Amino acid sequence: MDCDQVKCIALTFDDGPGKYAGTLLDTLKKYDAKATFFLEGQYVKSRPQYVKRMVAEGHELGNHSYSHPDFTKSEPGTIRSEIQKTQDAVKKAAGVEPKLLRPPYGMADLQVSDIAAEFGMPMILWTAGSQDWSSKNVDAIQKQTLAVAKPNSIILMHDWVKQTVDGMPALIKTLQNKGYHLVTVSDVVKNEDLKPGDIFPVPDGWEK
Ligand SMILES: [Zn+2]
Repeated sequence: MDCDQVKCIALTFDDGPGKYAGTLLDTLKKYDAKATFFLEGQYVKSRPQYVKRMVAEGHELGNHSYSHPDFTKSEPGTIRSEIQKTQDAVKKAAGVEPKLLRPPYGMADLQVSDIAAEFGMPMILWTAGSQDWSSKNVDAIQKQTLAVAKPNSIILMHDWVKQTVDGMPALIKTLQNKGYHLVTVSDVVKNEDLKPGDIFPVPDGWEK
């Protein structure tokens, strides 16, 4: 997909695979939509079948730690083992390793950046949130997402929020009617030339 030529948007689902990942995957398949899943290793371990499906159905995987600690308050050894254990779990489940890192809570600093670089991964945050975890309301999630949707947006959502998954068919239809192609994060950041340890979008106050 060439996101210079067409309107693209990347929906991203954190902390999973969540309980409702199977239903979400069915919906994405039905509408020929791609997504990116920032997986938490402990759930990769307990729900490997979804991870396998994500890869088989053309979605992108990212690493979101093993147990979701704030990396800016963690020792380097903890950060490394949180990332490595998740890489290992994904490899075991689906035969591939994530190439993107989303630190828990989107919290990163120069130490986290250096460790991401060791793993060869850029860090991907989001351009806007759906607020799904706080509203837990189908209409509110749709309204918020449409309000912040722009070409090449990276939208934060969660596949453990039932209302996100319930509302996904209507949301995807509406986005597609507006001309959006639902693509992976790598599709929308293709022109950013991200290097290992880089962060995108760059947060306010980030210095390197
Ligand atoms: Zn998270």
